[in-house]
Amino acid sequence: MRPLTVAIIGRPNVGKSTLFNRLAGRRLAIVHDRPGVTRDRRFADGRLGDMPLRIVDTAGLEEAPADALETRMRQQTERALAEADVALMLIDARVGVTPMDAHFAQVLRESPTAVVLVANKCEGGAGEAGLYESFGLGLGDPVPLSAEHGEGLAALFEALLPHEAALHARLDVEREAGGHGPGGGADDADIAPGDLEARAAAGADDDAEAEPVDPGRPLNLAIVGRPNTGKSTLVNRLIGDDRLLTGPEAGVTRDAISVDWVHDGRPIRLVDTAGLRRKGRIHESLEKLSVADTLNAIRLAEVVVLMMDADMVMDRQDLTIARLVVDEGRALVLAVNKWDAAEDRQGTLKRLRDRLETSLAQVRGVPYVTVSALQGRNLDRLMNTVLATHAVWNQRISTGRLNRWLAGMTGEHPPPMGQHGRRIRLRYMTQAKARPPTFAVFCSRPEDLPESYSRYLVNGLRDAFGFEGVPVRLLLRKSE
Ligand code: GDP
Ligand code: GDP
Repeated sequence: MRPLTVAIIGRPNVGKSTLFNRLAGRRLAIVHDRPGVTRDRRFADGRLGDMPLRIVDTAGLEEAPADALETRMRQQTERALAEADVALMLIDARVGVTPMDAHFAQVLRESPTAVVLVANKCEGGAGEAGLYESFGLGLGDPVPLSAEHGEGLAALFEALLPHEAALHARLDVEREAGGHGPGGGADDADIAPGDLEARAAAGADDDAEAEPVDPGRPLNLAIVGRPNTGKSTLVNRLIGDDRLLTGPEAGVTRDAISVDWVHDGRPIRLVDTAGLRRKGRIHESLEKLSVADTLNAIRLAEVVVLMMDADMVMDRQDLTIARLVVDEGRALVLAVNKWDAAEDRQGTLKRLRDRLETSLAQVRGVPYVTVSALQGRNLDRLMNTVLATHAVWNQRISTGRLNRWLAGMTGEHPPPMGQHGRRIRLRYMTQAKARPPTFAVFCSRPEDLPESYSRYLVNGLRDAFGFEGVPVRLLLRKSE
């Protein structure tokens, strides 16, 4: 799949080069595709989150003939726009909207290229007035950003998502048209044996979206839970010694320490054990759960193990933590500890399943493992569950498969009538990102689509693609 091509547009000094460098990172690549003819045109491969980008550089004003600055800028801008799927129109929010910004906005409004308005230099709230002023440019809602400090990149990512999905839709259509002629079927099985080009393109699509877990990179794991459930005992068991509370790291970093070890050939990094360590040093109240500590650990982690005491499984505090994990989009694994001493094992499991169903219904199928940290029982199974859940959380589904699945789902249960008696149409779907799995659905009237229908889709995704037990997000996007 070719990446989304963006052009960074704006008057001098608003931060275009700074944003260019931030998106291009160190992978800046200068491509002269036709030397001599397009010497001043530069592309860089970049990335925002896990979205690959192709960035058209609008620099090179120096090399242009010495016309009036404005003419040169217009030429430069028009050329960049012609190459791009989306224009990122930058303003300096600290300065506010200038006449030259308004001039650029005018050019962009007349261009067929989609635009995302970006209010740069917004760090520390200094750009607030300029941010509000820029609504008046008629280019949609501005994204507040600080290119220099790297703030607001998540919002920029969100703003680019629908454009990426639209590009994928366009490429899918082009591919189908090229492979089958008008009205050709979308199914892989329809591809004639001789139609190698279509097949190669379909294969490339799946390859590009498959993102295997890199076995060399450590998996970030957090172990959280109420005091006294056995977290320190578990950690000490897992890493096989007691350096967690006494090791050299403990004194070095005050607020976050991490411990690395290898399980079954996979490096694991236990993040933010500060909460555990603190307990060892000072005798803070054992009853008190520090939500701030817990949240900190969750945010640093990919997979979170929630330790519970078998005799009081899934109490109110356990549920609070479980919800934090899900809300933060992390993968959750439940450990029911002290299984060796559990009074009523059957009753415990029944209670656990009931609570999961009634109080944590938004993540169906959360895995749980009964363990004894003290005796070291079932810890292999716990860690294997952590690895498996991590793989699911990382999983990517190709756009082709998703849309075939969507067609089946809407065929079986069509979306309801919206207002004015017109059926809501779900046109297209793509996985916007993994970690957690996030899907964008393009819909004729997203505001009318009932919550129950979104749930139907999310539960269907879990069943069809094995997203059991991890948070699955659905973004509804407007499409005509
Ligand atoms: P360009 O002419 O549009 O390419 O702008 P530059 O990227 O060269 O940036 C112009 C000036 O604005 C430089 O001094 C940058 O350091 C500064 N700048 C860029 N982004 C930010 C930002 O997010 N915040 C602040 N405060 N300054 C920025
Ligand atoms: P933390 O506050 O969550 O770090 O809990 P600790 O690891 O300090 O454990 C609290 C108490 O529970 C200690 O007395 C442990 O010995 C005990 N404990 C931990 N794991 C188990 C277990 O698997 N079985 C039993 N019977 N006791 C355990």
